[in-house]
Amino acid sequence: MVLSNSYTELGGAFYQSIPPEPVKEPKLFLWNSTLAETLQLERILPSDGSSRAQIFSGNRLLPGAEPIALAYAGHQFGHFVPQLGDGRAHLLGELTDRYGDLKEIQLKGSGPTPYSRNGDGRYALGPAIREFIMGEALHAMGIPTTRSLAVITTGETVYRETPNQGAVLTRVASSHLRVGSFEYFAALKNRQALQQLSDFAIGRHYPELQNEGEGRFALLLEQVIERQVELVVEWLRVGFIHGVMNTDNTTISGETIDYGPCAMMGVYSPDTVFSSIDRAGRYAFGNQPAIAQWNMARFAETLLPLIHADEKQAIEIASRKLEAFGDLFNDRYQRMMARKIGITEAEPSDVKLSSELLQCLQRKRLDYTESFDRLTRSLTSPDLAEQLSRELGDWYSQWQARLSAEAAFQQAQQIMRQMNPLVIPRNQQMEQVIGISTQQGDASAAEQFLEVLRSPYALTDKTAPYQQTTADADQGYQTFCGT
Ligand code: AMP
Ligand code: MG
Repeated sequence: MVLSNSYTELGGAFYQSIPPEPVKEPKLFLWNSTLAETLQLERILPSDGSSRAQIFSGNRLLPGAEPIALAYAGHQFGHFVPQLGDGRAHLLGELTDRYGDLKEIQLKGSGPTPYSRNGDGRYALGPAIREFIMGEALHAMGIPTTRSLAVITTGETVYRETPNQGAVLTRVASSHLRVGSFEYFAALKNRQALQQLSDFAIGRHYPELQNEGEGRFALLLEQVIERQVELVVEWLRVGFIHGVMNTDNTTISGETIDYGPCAMMGVYSPDTVFSSIDRAGRYAFGNQPAIAQWNMARFAETLLPLIHADEKQAIEIASRKLEAFGDLFNDRYQRMMARKIGITEAEPSDVKLSSELLQCLQRKRLDYTESFDRLTRSLTSPDLAEQLSRELGDWYSQWQARLSAEAAFQQAQQIMRQMNPLVIPRNQQMEQVIGISTQQGDASAAEQFLEVLRSPYALTDKTAPYQQTTADADQGYQTFCGT
């Protein structure tokens, strides 16, 4: 058996059994060989592309696969929807990777399920390429994320605003549990299912809580809050805008999931938003911490009946955990920002130093990634230091003074190099790569982009063209949810 599926042991209330709907003409488009190695799949799978295309389109199932669509609910843009569920995805099962970790294998775009509502159950090639590339880019930057093993074109047309080539993406995640999974059973007032789900989540992601008795549910909340704080801080570090932080897209594992309308911030501005449907800027770059906290409040509500039999006491315990979000976030965020400018032992006054830098970047409409890269390089380049000191004025000399108090410039530079990517999946480049790949039916542009993005902290001979940007590069740029 290649796969087993422990989710099915939870019982029929948690999912619907449904096979993927076969596709006409599956062809391997993108393959993640490093991930396949990690999953110990390379030696099990047939080596030819056409067999792999059959398997990862859903036309042929891996031994042990038990395809299911998971039930979940979710708050979408603040509004509760009691039933969402996998409308175009099939969880096939899980396997143990080379490091001993369980990884779930899910097909996305593999046909309709009982949760499809009016959707066609399919995925278009362009968004599938974007999900593949974005996941790999974040992973390479050291950010927790689901990843993609394969993109298979289906030979079928998927209709959105325009006709598109269809694709099936294989998603790999430590689990597909979301806040919305808990909300589904909370709305049904099914305490027993909530407890089962919580224990499943604890077993999978927080096994150390298994010995905590009745206290384990409050601790689960605490742990998930901590992971979400860490995740959002990581997004802020690199300028990632998720774009659709609904509770059904908020994992219990703390991995980034669902790369629909996501984008990267170019010019620094906390109100940056690219998603065409996010008119109020709910999911703007700088709003992400507040939204993560809001999502954690929704999670806390689902756990109340498990946290304490007495509702008042349950609310008190959960509120205390939620209130800790703010301090925890501030602490992690300030430490991260300090490290971005080469300071390991952050002092209270460093908050002012980093926030003044951000204000300066915003005022001067400077690119976030490029600016931190230039600051990093300036520590060993007198020319660049002079340039930056002209551009950033007093701030630059204050920073230099702070650094010489902290440590040698070279040491600071090393830290900054680990914190500040040289290259990110810039919006315009992403669009270009997707355009070329879909039009030519050939993944080489995507493969080249991936090669560069997989080395975000080290300059290679291929990096430079992908670093270029202009202040108006993102002018009018929009991303779309209907993928
Ligand atoms: P998302 O915005 O991608 O997180 O999806 C929200 C919900 O819509 C989930 O329940 C998805 O399964 C469902 N969904 C999105 N696109 C489709 C589609 N093409 N067909 C069926 N269901 C879909
Ligand atoms: Mg989703």
